[in-house]
Amino acid sequence: MQIQVQSREGQAHDARATRPPSRQTHPVAGGNAVSLETVSRAYVDRRGAAVQALADVSLQAVRGGVLAVVGPSGCGKTTLLELICGLQQPDSGTVECEPAVLMPQHDLLLPWLSAVDNATLALRIAGVPRAQARREGTSLFEQLGLGGFERARPNELSGGMRQRVAFVRTLLSGKPLLCLDEPFGALDAITRQEMQEWLTGAFLREPRTVVLVTHDVEEAIVLADRVAVLSPRPGRVVSELTVQEPRPRSRTDATVIALRERAMRTLADSRAT
Ligand code: ADP
Ligand code: MG
Repeated sequence: MQIQVQSREGQAHDARATRPPSRQTHPVAGGNAVSLETVSRAYVDRRGAAVQALADVSLQAVRGGVLAVVGPSGCGKTTLLELICGLQQPDSGTVECEPAVLMPQHDLLLPWLSAVDNATLALRIAGVPRAQARREGTSLFEQLGLGGFERARPNELSGGMRQRVAFVRTLLSGKPLLCLDEPFGALDAITRQEMQEWLTGAFLREPRTVVLVTHDVEEAIVLADRVAVLSPRPGRVVSELTVQEPRPRSRTDATVIALRERAMRTLADSRAT
């Protein structure tokens, strides 16, 4: 059987996939929200050459925890999240997960809608009346440091605020599993740190199951309970670290530095092999 794969550029290609899609969203065994078993995924580029994005990835995310997936650019992190969210199918292996929502790498806010109308779009599409949707959005805006900016247009907001609006939109999807794709990748270092502190506070107030993708090893260790380190493409899990340090954590904590060194070493070893 051949599966049509839609490329990010919108061109359809034939993939050399031979297995039927295997993704299920029934309750996942063992207290997990995500379970991937030997998942591989390849693309076909414009010239017809195969690009192996992920190879034999097995990974679990515990319900109620924050799993960070860290790896160099191009190692298949976005592909992994799209598989979890059902936006793509694996070529082989199995993907089992709870219903998941993707917060994409770019905020993709609609410029003509106010901040709160952007954040509540999923509610409106689900048929929730505008006034009620705005009430729910406004309440989250207040909790997440956006109070007073409900009516602002996206171009009137800073990068950090736009990411917070996108995060509120993700929360309001009502899905139990949040997949965040490099949420702070486009921000400057100072705003990035503020946003990490803010996200830590948000998770402490209301624990969620999160898969957080980042190329920043320290960010992964500061925010997550567990960190999976992927090799350069094709992405494989080369190590998994457990972070027990209580929150909030800082990049300069001795434990964070020690774990960072461990993760960087496994990453360097995976390049060498
Ligand atoms: P990351 O998010 O870690 O940067 P991606 O999952 O976006 O990595 O991509 C992994 C690899 O797959 C990259 O080499 C990328 O160029 C390639 N790739 C991603 N999407 C496509 C596509 N639609 N068609 C062809 N190659 C792709
Ligand atoms: Mg990516």
